[in-house]
Amino acid sequence: MGLVIQKFGGSSLAKAERVLEAARKAIRAKSEGNMVIVVVSAQGSTTDDLIAKANEITPQPSAREMDMLLSTGEQISIALTAMAIHELGEKAVSFTGPQIGIVTDSTHRKARIKKIDTSKLVEAVETGHIVVIAGFQGMDEQYDITTLGRGGSDTTAVAVAAAMKLAGYDVECEIYTDVDGVYSTDPRIVPDARKADAISYDEMLEMASMGAGVMHSRSIEFAKKYDVPLMVRNSRSDAIGTWIVPEAEWMGEVPVCGVALAADEARLVLEGVPDRPGISHTIFAALAAANIATDMIAQSVGIGGKATIGFTVLNNELEKTIKTLKPIVGEMGATLRETGKVSKVSVVGAGMRNISGVAEKMFQALASEGINMKMITTGDIKISVLIEEDALPAEEETSTPGEAIKKSHLESRKAVKGRRALKAVHAAFGLHLPRKGAGIPVGGTSQTGFKPRAKPLVVAGVGDREAAVSRLEGMEDVLVSGVHLNAEQSRITIADLPDNPGNCSTIFNAIATGGILVDMIVQNMNRPDRAELSFTVPRADLAKALKRTKAVVQSIDPNCAVVGDAEIAVLFVLGVGMRTHTGVAQTMFGALAAKGINIAMINTSEVCIGVVIERARGEEAHACLKAAFHVL
Ligand code: ADP
Ligand code: ASP
Ligand code: MG
Repeated sequence: MGLVIQKFGGSSLAKAERVLEAARKAIRAKSEGNMVIVVVSAQGSTTDDLIAKANEITPQPSAREMDMLLSTGEQISIALTAMAIHELGEKAVSFTGPQIGIVTDSTHRKARIKKIDTSKLVEAVETGHIVVIAGFQGMDEQYDITTLGRGGSDTTAVAVAAAMKLAGYDVECEIYTDVDGVYSTDPRIVPDARKADAISYDEMLEMASMGAGVMHSRSIEFAKKYDVPLMVRNSRSDAIGTWIVPEAEWMGEVPVCGVALAADEARLVLEGVPDRPGISHTIFAALAAANIATDMIAQSVGIGGKATIGFTVLNNELEKTIKTLKPIVGEMGATLRETGKVSKVSVVGAGMRNISGVAEKMFQALASEGINMKMITTGDIKISVLIEEDALPAEEETSTPGEAIKKSHLESRKAVKGRRALKAVHAAFGLHLPRKGAGIPVGGTSQTGFKPRAKPLVVAGVGDREAAVSRLEGMEDVLVSGVHLNAEQSRITIADLPDNPGNCSTIFNAIATGGILVDMIVQNMNRPDRAELSFTVPRADLAKALKRTKAVVQSIDPNCAVVGDAEIAVLFVLGVGMRTHTGVAQTMFGALAAKGINIAMINTSEVCIGVVIERARGEEAHACLKAAFHVL
C-alpha cells in the first residue's frame, strides 16, 4: 500500500470551508487505497499575526518564546483538520511536532531537523487513521519547542516522507498551495509566467534559495537526499502540478527554466583586506560560527596587496553580521561598509552548464532596461546579479513593522527595480512560451507522466550514500557528494571597469559570439564607481577570449587593464545545502588555508561551491578537500 503525504499551506486552510476541502482531498487519497499523512501550516496569515502580537510587546522578543508562540498557529490547524476529517466520516488523529518526536537542534527560529521517531506515525497509519501533523515545528533535546524558519512546513512534510520511506513505506509527497505548480517565476509579479511540468531537484533548490517562495529550499534538500517523489499542486483543483524530479537528460537542453527575485538581502563590502591565504577563512568562519549564511560572495583579486570582498546576508541578520565582523575587520586593518537596499535576480537552468550565451542574454536584458549590476556571481546552474534599489520614501519604510507582514511579499513589492529586472529577464529568455518540460511533452513520456524514480543523484561524502541516508540521526546534515578539479580553465580579469549599465553585456556578447563557454563569473565593486570583473573560460579559448575582451574593453575605456591568467585551477564541492549549511564553506576555506593555498575567486550556490586557486597547487588542493569532506 502506498503512503501519500499531503501538505497544505496557509492559504489552503484559511477558512473552515478550505479546511474541509483539504480534509476531502485526504479522504479521497485514502479511499483510493493509500495510507495518508497530512501536514498543515498555520491558517492564512496566522503566523504573521502572531509575530505582530509579539512586536506589540517588544521589538526584540526572545527566540525561544517566539517559537513557543509561533508553533501555536500550526496547532490550531491540526485540531481543525482532524475535526474536519471526523466530520466527513473518517478516522483521523492529530499530533504536534514534538509529539511525533521531530527532534531538532536548538537554533530557535531556524532549527534543523536531526531525527524523526516514526513509531507513533506508523502505529496511527497502520490502524487506519489519517494522521494530521503540525508543520514548521519540532523540539530540541532540552524539550524546548523550536520552529524551522518561515515556510518550514514544506520541510516537515518532505522530512516526514523521507523518514517513512526509510521505515519501508512507498511514499509520494504532494505540496498543495495556491498556485498550479512551480512557474518560470512568481506569477504574482509576472502574470504570463509559465507552469513547469517538471523541474529537477537542483533547479528547484537554486530557485527556492534564490527567492522563489513557492517551496522552502530545505524541503528540496530532503527530497533530493532521500529521493522523495514530490509534486507541487493547487489545493483548489485537481490539475496535475509540477513534478520535482532527479535531473533528466532533456533538462540539459533547457538553458533557463526560471528566474527568481530576492529582496530581503543586504550587501556588505570589506575593503582593504590583506590578500593572503586564510583571510577568507577567518571572515567566513566567524560568520559560520555565528550561524549566518552568506549568499553572494565576490572577492576581487588584490591590487597592491589588498583585496575587496563583497557579500550578501539576509537583511534580518545584518546587525548580527556587522557585530560579528567588527573586531576581525579592525584587526585586519580593513573597513566594512554596508551599501543601500538591493535586489537579487537569478536565472536558473540545468542546460546552462553546456549552453553558451546565457550570461550575455541576461546582461543584455538588464542593459536594455538601463539597470546596473553591482555584483555578479554564478553557480553551476545559476547566475545571480545584484541591483541597487532606489531609496524608498520614509513612510513606506516605517510601514513594515519588523517581520510582521509576510516579508518576502512585501519586500518584493518594494523592489521596484528588481521587479523590472525580473520581467525583462523573463521576457528575454521567452519563459512565457512553451518549451520542453513546460507545455511540450518530453520524449516518449506523457507530459504528466513523470515518476521521479531513477537512481539517486547524491552520493554521500562519508563514502556510502546508502549508509548515510539509512540513518535517521542527522537527517538534515549536509551531504557532500563530490570534490572536482578542473585544471582546464583560465581566467580573464578586467580592472577598473566603469560602473555603467551595458558594459558586461557588451563584453559577454563579444565572448558568446566567439562561441566560448563562460563558466564562473564574479563581479565586484572595488571602488564606488569602478568594478572588477573576472570570469573563467576554457584554457584552449584563452587567447581568443582575451583578444575579444581587449578589443571590446578598449572601446569602453582604454584605461581598463585586461589580464589573462592560464595558471589557474577551479575546485568545486558539490552536494546539497552547500550554502545554507554554513559549515561547508568554513571547512573548505579552512582546509585550503591550512595548506597556505590562496583563493582568488569564490562562488557559492545551494548545490556547489567553487573556488579559483593557483594551478600549480590544484592537485594538492583537490586532495586536501577530498580529505576534508571524506570524499573518496
Ligand atoms: P503556502 O502557504 O501554500 O506554503 P506560499 O505563499 O508559501 O504558499 O507559496 C506559494 C506562492 O509562492 C505563490 O502564491 C506565488 O506567489 C509564490 N511564488 C514565488 N515564486 C514562484 C514560482 N516560481 N512558482 C510558483 N509560485 C511562486
Ligand atoms: N506557518 C509558517 C509560516 O507562515 C510555516 C509555513 O507556512 O510553512 O512561515
Ligand atoms: Mg510556503
